[in-house]
Amino acid sequence: MISPLMPNYNRADLAFEHGEGAWLFDTAGRRFLDFGAGIASSSLGHGHPHLTQAIAEQAKRVMHVSNLYRVPGAEHLAQRLVEASFADSVFFCNSGAEANEGLVKALRKTMADAGQPERVRVICCDGAFHGRTLAMLAATGNPKYQAGFGPVVDGFDHVPFNNMNALRAAITPQTAGVLIEPIQGEGGIRPATMQFLRDLRATCDEFGILLGMDEIQTGMGRTGKLFAYEWAGIEPDVMSLAKGLAGGFPMGAVLAKERVAKALVPGSHGTTFGGGPLACAASNAVLDVILAPGFLDEVVTTGQYLWAGLEKLRAKYPTVFTEVRGMGLIVGLKCAVPNTAAQNAAVAEGLLTVAAGDNVLRLVPPLIVREAECDEALARLDRAAQHLMPAMLEAAK
Ligand code: PLP
Repeated sequence: MISPLMPNYNRADLAFEHGEGAWLFDTAGRRFLDFGAGIASSSLGHGHPHLTQAIAEQAKRVMHVSNLYRVPGAEHLAQRLVEASFADSVFFCNSGAEANEGLVKALRKTMADAGQPERVRVICCDGAFHGRTLAMLAATGNPKYQAGFGPVVDGFDHVPFNNMNALRAAITPQTAGVLIEPIQGEGGIRPATMQFLRDLRATCDEFGILLGMDEIQTGMGRTGKLFAYEWAGIEPDVMSLAKGLAGGFPMGAVLAKERVAKALVPGSHGTTFGGGPLACAASNAVLDVILAPGFLDEVVTTGQYLWAGLEKLRAKYPTVFTEVRGMGLIVGLKCAVPNTAAQNAAVAEGLLTVAAGDNVLRLVPPLIVREAECDEALARLDRAAQHLMPAMLEAAK
């Protein structure tokens, strides 16, 4: 008989009762170090006093009013995001896929408003992940996710990642823009090179098309800058955010330059819950913490510390881990054994991670993680790796 929860997830048999910082405690009282952070979302960890207080206080005052009215918390949050980014204006929604849908609509409408309605196509990269709605399945382009869901939405072209010649060759008179992750997250923590991102900016300008960045996983401090595009010294025209935006409370956003944002005139786009008082209170609290002086520098330092430890592990267990990649606190360990086996071995040692594409084990701890907790994670991974050595795996068969 089918379970009341639809069977679309292969869930681990773990249920968490509460969390503190980078730790989660399950219903059986076991402690887990959370280097998955709810898939790179619980940016302030669990039970962060500033975040939980902001949510509790706002919930008591007013939780939802709809976008028929002004929402002061949303106005304040938008102002702060504009001041801290390339953007002139922000649209709030509820998830990553919804943010990307809004981003693509904005790309097309900008072109239509500029007298080029034929420019509807968006170039995406092989290995991308942009979400699970019908259009974002097409943008993601992975046949595995599309199978059985009928005709793939038209309007998305795919090129190899980090290949500028291929990207330039794919631009046609129907191209509206490009949608790219600065670091492919689900695809296996595969960073775009800085040169590729700079060339991409120049190419979009050269052809008069728009540059859209999906910073749903890389944004909000994860790489050690508020947004990953900053590392390349470029600016997109439009960007999607979600995941860490409200520290684990569901929220998404589209940030855009005026030229793009003004295409979304009243009635052209919307969402009932987007930018509600509760989500905005959560996100404003997250920004209070992330934008505090020194916080992002610490993400960089902690990331370097974790990276150095992982490099040692890779050298110690070359038959288990073959590469460390990523940036800041979004790190991938490419595995020589199945990444799901590595994930399970880590769970057995009380360490939560997330599997990603390209046989990668993803480490995306809360941004508040301390070096001592990185040491603990490394020790647990070391023990997990011992069980993953080919001889051990063979013996366990
Ligand atoms: N884009 C990227 C880069 C993501 O990592 C994800 C989620 O993993 C999404 C989009 C989709 O976000 P959501 O699951 O909130 O719809």
